[in-house]
Amino acid sequence: MMRKQKIIILINLIFVFAACGDSENSSTPQPTIKENWYTTTKVTKNTYSIAEPKSSQRNVSYLIVGDEKAIMFDTGSGENSGQDGTKMIYKLKELTSLPITLLLSHFHFDHNQNIGEFKKVAFPDVPFLKQKVINGTYNFTAEDLFIGNYPKNVTVNEWLPIKTDIDLGNKKIQIINIPGHTSESVAIIDTTDKIAFLGDYLYNGELFLFDVDDINKYKESVDYLLSILDINYRLFGAHGTPEVSFNKLKDLQEFLKCIQESICTGVKEKYSGYNTLLYKNNDLSIRIFI
Ligand SMILES: [Zn+2]
Repeated sequence: MMRKQKIIILINLIFVFAACGDSENSSTPQPTIKENWYTTTKVTKNTYSIAEPKSSQRNVSYLIVGDEKAIMFDTGSGENSGQDGTKMIYKLKELTSLPITLLLSHFHFDHNQNIGEFKKVAFPDVPFLKQKVINGTYNFTAEDLFIGNYPKNVTVNEWLPIKTDIDLGNKKIQIINIPGHTSESVAIIDTTDKIAFLGDYLYNGELFLFDVDDINKYKESVDYLLSILDINYRLFGAHGTPEVSFNKLKDLQEFLKCIQESICTGVKEKYSGYNTLLYKNNDLSIRIFI
């Protein structure tokens, strides 16, 4: 996306943040405030959706717990006050005492705001990311974050292999790269319990693409997802109501094909002052910056 577009959207979203009434600096812990910020729901045995219904982006993160270790998928919005000196770890400690590895669904600002609370951060082992890690440190760019300038960087403690079984202890998951929303976007596929965590690739809400060419990447990713998943899989997204119907994924494939072939047409619409194309059908809304 063009830089000037980002700036305008930044202004727009800062307004949303302000409207939430949380004016604190996100890096300042508030140790003594009790809160009821998260809505935690068991997705299945030892797997939890951790939603932030009061956050400006209605974030949902996921804690996937095996018998030996746990994976946290995203770190929340950071807009809450926190408890016991942390904004997210305090909640996770209520759910597991096992070591937790953090994996980000992608690098946008609204998925990594509590990253500093995690001792162990894993990246997906994709070559273009590995090339950018210098002496174990990844520096986030303005484009990565989309909005804001936090976090500046992170120490990458582990590289998780792609399309390979990862055993958490009686629970096997796979990480897959699903470009479209961003190039580094990943999904976690829990093959033991047949659950797919899709991040911002697909959730219940308007989907965003930041370049017209990303339609082709989005379509390739949905083709791949549908080649490895079946109707028995439950799907979960990173915003809004957590669970997404499997039919929505199939609908996305058809809709992207229709857009690619210029059979489905979008409506030109100003969004935060800039030009977008909005494609809608009964089930999906896809906005592309042009
Ligand atoms: Zn997001």
